[in-house]
Amino acid sequence: MFTVPQTIRAQRLATCQSCKHYVSSTQSCGTLIFGRKLTPEELAEAEENNKITHYRRKTRLCGCVMPNKVRFAVYRCPINKWGRYRLNEEESELLREFVSSLPEGGRINIETVKALNEWVYKITGHRMKCQTCKGAELVNWIKREASNLE
Ligand code: SF4
Repeated sequence: MFTVPQTIRAQRLATCQSCKHYVSSTQSCGTLIFGRKLTPEELAEAEENNKITHYRRKTRLCGCVMPNKVRFAVYRCPINKWGRYRLNEEESELLREFVSSLPEGGRINIETVKALNEWVYKITGHRMKCQTCKGAELVNWIKREASNLE
């Protein structure tokens, strides 16, 4: 699972900390569910507490520990105060160009691996310890990411 840059984490957490659904004693979104052991009764109660109506739409707060949750690219706020981490339009276009320049298969050279790593960092905030032998894996991953942008 990939993480986001520190600045994005800080922005997300600041949003949570100013949100009326944030519980500062447990640092959680609503009643804490994840990160502690709950009896079935406690879990049912916590899930009930976390059912809310937001702009007339019924939804459920996640009950996660937010300093942990905000670290990961794939997560988003259940009421859309912050979303899954994405590149901006210009970066998305550059990523598409880069992906279309990648070879279809076989080994990739060290320069391409370095460029791949830079893109992985830009997208996820996570530096991978990548050797050329992992290149194909990264090529596939970045192609999937680029196709998700469309
Ligand atoms: S994830 Fe969303 S709803 Fe939950 S505390 Fe953060 S901003 Fe509020």
